[in-house]
Amino acid sequence: MKKFYITTPVYYVNDVPHIGHTYTTIAADVLARWHRELGEEVFFLTGTDEHGAKIETKAKEMKLEPKQYADKIADAFKEAWQELNISHDGFLRTTGEAHIKAVQKALRFMHDKGDIYLSKYEGLYCRGCEQYKSERDLIDGMCQDHKIAPEKMSEECYTFKLSKYQDELLEKIKNDELQILPLNRKNEIVSFYEKEGLADVSFSRKNVNWGIPIPWDKSHTVYVWADAFLNYLTGLGWDGATPFNKGGKGDLKFWPPSVQLMSKDILRVHATIWPAMLLSLGLPLPKKIFIHGYFQVNGQKMGKSLGNAIAPSDLIKKYGVDAARYLIMGATAFGHDGDISWEKFNDKYNADLANGLGNLAARVSNLLETNKIGLDLEVGSDKKLIKKYAENMQAFKFDEALKILWEKLRAGDTVLSD
Ligand SMILES: [Zn+2]
Repeated sequence: MKKFYITTPVYYVNDVPHIGHTYTTIAADVLARWHRELGEEVFFLTGTDEHGAKIETKAKEMKLEPKQYADKIADAFKEAWQELNISHDGFLRTTGEAHIKAVQKALRFMHDKGDIYLSKYEGLYCRGCEQYKSERDLIDGMCQDHKIAPEKMSEECYTFKLSKYQDELLEKIKNDELQILPLNRKNEIVSFYEKEGLADVSFSRKNVNWGIPIPWDKSHTVYVWADAFLNYLTGLGWDGATPFNKGGKGDLKFWPPSVQLMSKDILRVHATIWPAMLLSLGLPLPKKIFIHGYFQVNGQKMGKSLGNAIAPSDLIKKYGVDAARYLIMGATAFGHDGDISWEKFNDKYNADLANGLGNLAARVSNLLETNKIGLDLEVGSDKKLIKKYAENMQAFKFDEALKILWEKLRAGDTVLSD
């Protein structure tokens, strides 16, 4: 049976679920359901990323232990996905015992291989990103995402030989062995490889307690990204053995991912560090990475501090689950940035669902009732239409697929009006 493995990122528990998480997750759900419909064997993984200094600080603010705090937010994500009728097969938490053990085993393998070495790192560190920044990443000396000036830091750390995999990865990205979609995103990444290139990256922290201890040196913890990436493997039950131990613990029949969905802010790490780790571990790369856009509200960046955020739970309250899912997925062409607002949601709800689909359904059911006739639905009779629809779904063109359905619905309306 054909297999389909789809992932969302593990969401960082520094925040409760917002519309960005929701967008990625609903899109993954749409694809998972579509591939199940095609008769494929599907595994759909999501989860939460729970380590790092930022989480430790957040927990302290709320007078909780980091794990207690993470439990609370992980529950909020689980509830949100239940409310939105998300059909995930797995929910991986990076604080789970099996995940921690597998991460340690994997890092030890990379260390023994010589891909992780001890060095001293000096650089500009943004506490918001929990990442060292290059001068190029900064505007007026500030992190673009956090509007704070990174601090000069120097520390002893275990470093991953990312540079070693530069040529091999660039080749695989160029020839679509690791396909990055849409095409403009692939071009961005190729140009990053060619112009800046891959520098070795720190894989451990000495001053962060809330993390997975480096197995051969417990005074360090694993860099959050290195920890988080491996969820895509541990979420399938991988125990850190490499190459995959056939018949051992962990059913890895789904590896590698058919598609990994994410927003553009985490593309670069997913197109560099993540596949390089897989090469180091001797494991196959994901087939596709698909990057979707961001939402703005009336042309403005959305944010809690700006007071213009649209909470997924409010959308559900107002329109119901299915309509909320429809409105989020229909807000923009998948892969492009979009502009949303309550007004736009209202307009679309009324035009498409209340007047369009709702009206047609009401007219049909009236007709059936007054004439006391049953409905003989011939599902999938229009082969050409189905093919066109499938092609669009395969190409992540949800808006085009929807257009086909609307054409059909409008045709139905015309028949009834004659
Ligand atoms: Zn930052």
